[in-house]
Amino acid sequence: MDFTLNENQEMIAKMVRDFGSKHIRPKMMDWDESQEFPVEMFKKLGALGLMGVLVPQEYGGAGFGYFEYVTAIEELSKIDGSIGLSMAAHNSLCSGHIMYFGNEEQKKKYLTKLASAEWIGAWGLTEPNTGSDAGNMKTVAVKDGDYWVINGAKNFITHGKSGNVCVLIARTSAPGSHRSATAFIIEKGTPGFSHGRKENKLGMRASETTELIFDNCRVHKDQVLGTDGDGFIQAMKVLDGGRISIAALSLGIAQGAYEAALKYSQEREQFGKSISSFQGISFKLADMATEIEAARLLIYRAADMKNKGLNVTKESAMAKYYASEVAVKVANDAVQIFGGYGYTKDYPAEKFYRDAKLCTIGEGTSEIQKIVIAKQLYK
Ligand SMILES: Cc1cc2nc3c(=O)[nH]c(=O)nc-3n(C[C@H](O)[C@H](O)[C@H](O)COP(=O)(O)OP(=O)(O)OC[C@H]3O[C@@H](n4cnc5c(N)ncnc54)[C@H](O)[C@@H]3O)c2cc1C
Repeated sequence: MDFTLNENQEMIAKMVRDFGSKHIRPKMMDWDESQEFPVEMFKKLGALGLMGVLVPQEYGGAGFGYFEYVTAIEELSKIDGSIGLSMAAHNSLCSGHIMYFGNEEQKKKYLTKLASAEWIGAWGLTEPNTGSDAGNMKTVAVKDGDYWVINGAKNFITHGKSGNVCVLIARTSAPGSHRSATAFIIEKGTPGFSHGRKENKLGMRASETTELIFDNCRVHKDQVLGTDGDGFIQAMKVLDGGRISIAALSLGIAQGAYEAALKYSQEREQFGKSISSFQGISFKLADMATEIEAARLLIYRAADMKNKGLNVTKESAMAKYYASEVAVKVANDAVQIFGGYGYTKDYPAEKFYRDAKLCTIGEGTSEIQKIVIAKQLYK
């Protein structure tokens, strides 16, 4: 593997940095404070091609691979993790599910709008009582002629309110089998489909997280993705790719926190010296830098395998597990290096610290990643 950034990655990294300093940095603390999902800014990212990074060009996407995708999310998350999270959910989950399992008509109709961010995408698997145990979902879809009638609720759904279209996974036969769920594409405005409460979160506050409610929601059979009964299996495959994006999100947060802490440690003086000259601080920075690089290698390995069409269940879970735990640790150390100032909103460390924690929870907690990895080891 070649670890130097390719030309496209260099171009994307520069583009995101330039865009971020103009359109994200000046407003991100206001969005964080008010929990505003900045829809117009998100659409501008779409105009840059970042909302269809992996989508083939024939459907309006950039047609890039996972290296470019990882770079885009990392660079965005170095600035603001909540925008990185929204980008990951839109690209990997909603668009990814349609890209991998949609028929030609569905891809033409939905991917083109999603890739430009004319439409914002959501993806609903988690329910109030079934998060890690998603296979036990209670939202049901019952066949009625050419239609499916859906009842139930999903929660913690990214873009549940602002999303124009959602991929929903619902139970379509008795629990107990992996073939008992089906995936549907549901447009905003479909009668019986609404959003519920918006969560008030610790971090990732500019990424909108809400409930979805289905009350006798009728959906035509043309909206089914792939084959009836395959929804849960499809969702697990979508998450294999999605976890690379959450790993990249973690990497960006860790890198951003580390860079801020390194700079601060060289500027801040105590006892007449820069605090970076104290071994206690330099050892922290050495650990941070080393762990970030180790996370990067796991992510690039998973990305490389994904580009080659190989199964990445184990590798993406390892990358996500390790990178997210590193993000939490690095962000914690960054706050420590900033001292009291790290505890204030005048410096970036506290936001990295709050945002990082989501990475060990979303798209499968660290405990679930270990279960996924162990299952692959025992195969
Ligand atoms: C900001 C945010 C955005 C999200 N976006 C989406 C989205 O767009 N779409 C979507 O479908 N979901 C989304 N989620 C949901 C997310 O994927 C779930 O929160 C996550 O999978 C955990 O589920 P849970 O919250 O129900 O926790 P639970 O499953 O209740 O877990 C609670 C604790 O028990 C542990 N645990 C559970 N089972 C086991 C086990 N077998 N062994 C050991 N420990 C275990 C967990 O690791 C965790 O520590 C989002 C969540 C958040 C917070």
